[in-house]
Amino acid sequence: MPDKKNFETEAIRTQTPTTAEREHSTPLYMTSSFTFESAEHARALFANEIEGNVYSRYSNPNTDEFVAKMCKLEGAEAGVATGSGMAAIFGCLAGLLKQGDHVLASRSLFGSSHQILSQILPKWGITFTYGDVNKTENWESLIQENTRMLFLETPSNPGLDLIDLEWAGKLAKAHNLIFVVDNCFATPYLQRPIEFGADIVQHSATKFIDGQGRAIGGVIVGSEKYMEDIRFFTRQTGPALSPFNAWLFSKSLETLPVRMERHCDNAETLADFLGDHKDVNFVKYPHHKDHPQVELAKKQMKRGGGVVCFEIAGGYDKAKSFINKVNMLSRSANLGDTRTIVTHPASTTHSKLSDEEREAVGITSGLIRIAVGLENAEDIIGDVEQALG
Ligand SMILES: *Cc1c(COP(=O)(O)O)cnc(C)c1O
Repeated sequence: MPDKKNFETEAIRTQTPTTAEREHSTPLYMTSSFTFESAEHARALFANEIEGNVYSRYSNPNTDEFVAKMCKLEGAEAGVATGSGMAAIFGCLAGLLKQGDHVLASRSLFGSSHQILSQILPKWGITFTYGDVNKTENWESLIQENTRMLFLETPSNPGLDLIDLEWAGKLAKAHNLIFVVDNCFATPYLQRPIEFGADIVQHSATKFIDGQGRAIGGVIVGSEKYMEDIRFFTRQTGPALSPFNAWLFSKSLETLPVRMERHCDNAETLADFLGDHKDVNFVKYPHHKDHPQVELAKKQMKRGGGVVCFEIAGGYDKAKSFINKVNMLSRSANLGDTRTIVTHPASTTHSKLSDEEREAVGITSGLIRIAVGLENAEDIIGDVEQALG
């Protein structure tokens, strides 16, 4: 059998070796430290002469299994698991950048990523410039002598704007930039940025990777060349992922392909329904015919993903009434759950942005994000329909 197996198989069959008990499912290694056979064994481990577990802030069989799976699925050489998606993003930025460096980033970023770039990194002399997703032709002119990283999210949260990964990969290569992608919305099942030249991919495992709304976590994968500095940073500063959460995520990855197919089926059905509804100004879904970048979406994403957004006619008043009227759907700020969730980004996840910043990324007062779950599509649409009425 060839070494490299298909995605579904790798998601299931990448496992830590079984113990003497011959268990079929990977056990939970809920231990903070590991023992040494001898003084010499301990010395060799600490001198990095041999591989092995020492302490769960550094490594643990559960986090290792989760990282190994994510590397296989993203096509990456190496990785690091973190306690949250934001710890993954911060670990990647702080591990690779130094005082005086500059980041070229997409303006359409997750709210906390925006806070890190604009409020936290400047304290250490690391600056950034935003490029607009619909004006990529001027991104090259935004690159400075000290620009070291290209950081983007596609599809973006919540606007579902896309960036051409092939184009971005070439731009990064031409200017010697570390190319980093937040692949949270697509998951490796739908989009593999490394195939387009990304050096590093990061995830909030909290979302589709867990897929069941149970745990917070994150992961960074990419080329070993960069992972060395990131690993040093995360091991020393300590945003370690709990073995329990790693165990959950690793189990969840076994069903990622089947879950994503169902998320996409339901999201497509809902996007079609919303696209034809009289009280909806527009619907946005990567593989929907009305998405301005549908061709690009079809080129770089296998399917459209599990998030749909739409603008309700009537602004914030109507958006509020919609959010208040849903019965079965959950009012929450999370996404990537089995349960369908409705969110009003302008007043919640993106409320810390200024009006101008929100406007620049299309987060209008009538914009609603639906993170489509795995319930029967008829029931999801039934609830959306009555809440729109
Ligand atoms: C949720 C999210 C994050 C942050 O992840 P946490 O696990 O909440 O820390 C980062 N990027 C995107 C696109 C997200 O949706």
